[in-house]
Amino acid sequence: ATVLQYRDVQKLYGDFVALQGVSMEVKKQQVVCLIGPSGSGKSTLLRCTNALETIDGGEILFDGVRLPKDRTAIRKVRQRMGMVFQNFELFPHKTAIENVIMGPSTVLGLSDEASRDRAEALLKKVGLADKAKNYPANLSGGQQQRVAIARALAMEPEVMLFDEPTSALDPETIGEVLNVMKALADDGMTMIVVTHEMTFARRVADHVVVFERGEIIEQGPPKQIFEAP
Ligand code: ADP
Ligand code: ADP
Repeated sequence: ATVLQYRDVQKLYGDFVALQGVSMEVKKQQVVCLIGPSGSGKSTLLRCTNALETIDGGEILFDGVRLPKDRTAIRKVRQRMGMVFQNFELFPHKTAIENVIMGPSTVLGLSDEASRDRAEALLKKVGLADKAKNYPANLSGGQQQRVAIARALAMEPEVMLFDEPTSALDPETIGEVLNVMKALADDGMTMIVVTHEMTFARRVADHVVVFERGEIIEQGPPKQIFEAP
């Protein structure tokens, strides 16, 4: 089954063509890695995917349905996608567990107890059960990013979008985040990952899409993309 289908997607910023002729798909339980130089349009594509940006041409289908334009419908669609950013974007005045609880409790309307149970289970899953009461400032970058992943998962998304999740991390904490992502992939989560981590892309991706100047220049299984010409 296809979760996300992109057909001839175009995105403009004024006269600047940020995406052009982008066609690709993400099938259920696949990990699709987007690679390519900085400025080639990868994160623009993610922001168009969860409707943080609108596209100027072509179409994006989510579960076979075109992304909506009105705000209420967009909010609903966005709830079905988990987004993880380069800079974590945790709420600094909330503890790790409060960051994770907030979505289920305020957005999904789960009871306090159900929200807390879910958050505890997810913090355990990302290896941070013992850091639940820490504030973000008292966590390493890698730990903050794992909280951010738990927070996104708490909404039980159908697809997870990762925008360079390890680019802002100290080298020694990159591995712990990639391991959590690998475990998620093994659980069957559908994922799009913008990354410069070629080892991750080679080992974990089902499909690799190479961007350059807003266009896809190559796509295929990692074996094909990374094998010497
Ligand atoms: P499936 O298990 O759905 O049949 P496979 O992973 O076996 O998919 O791939 C079958 C073919 O489709 C391969 O040539 C592969 O490169 C290609 N393929 C897999 N995933 C994608 C994708 N997301 N977009 C385009 N082609 C893909
Ligand atoms: P990547 O994720 O591959 O590094 P981006 O998608 O962030 O690339 O950016 C693609 C291009 O679009 C870059 O040249 C960037 O400067 C430009 N761009 C991104 N967002 C905006 C914006 N809001 N306004 C104008 N230009 C933008």
